[in-house]
Amino acid sequence: MNTNQFEELVRSALNNIPQGIREQLQNIDIIVEDVPKQDQLGGIEIDNENLLLGLYEGIPITLRDDYSMVLPDKITLFKEEIEKICDTEEEIVEEIQKTVIHEVAHHFGIDDTSLDTLGI
Ligand SMILES: [Zn+2]
Repeated sequence: MNTNQFEELVRSALNNIPQGIREQLQNIDIIVEDVPKQDQLGGIEIDNENLLLGLYEGIPITLRDDYSMVLPDKITLFKEEIEKICDTEEEIVEEIQKTVIHEVAHHFGIDDTSLDTLGI
């Protein structure tokens, strides 16, 4: 799949998010990269069982007390990592949707532990 097709899927995944939630997204960019950069991996342990499919970088809106003149939040989806765990285009569509919802949840201040509990 080429990057344009992938980005198109990301856009529709975003459009599938209920409008009420979408309208709450504030100052956020969603981009596609092939693979994570070294500094994006940080301390995260990556192996074939545990790829980094997406990443949220920014200040969750729940923590924005004094929020001005800051860079937008950034959600990155890693195309090659998502493709690695998917056999079909349907699986890619599903995985993009799951990843977008997961990272958007971080934007709203929900941490991985809570998301794990919710199965998201
Ligand atoms: Zn997460």
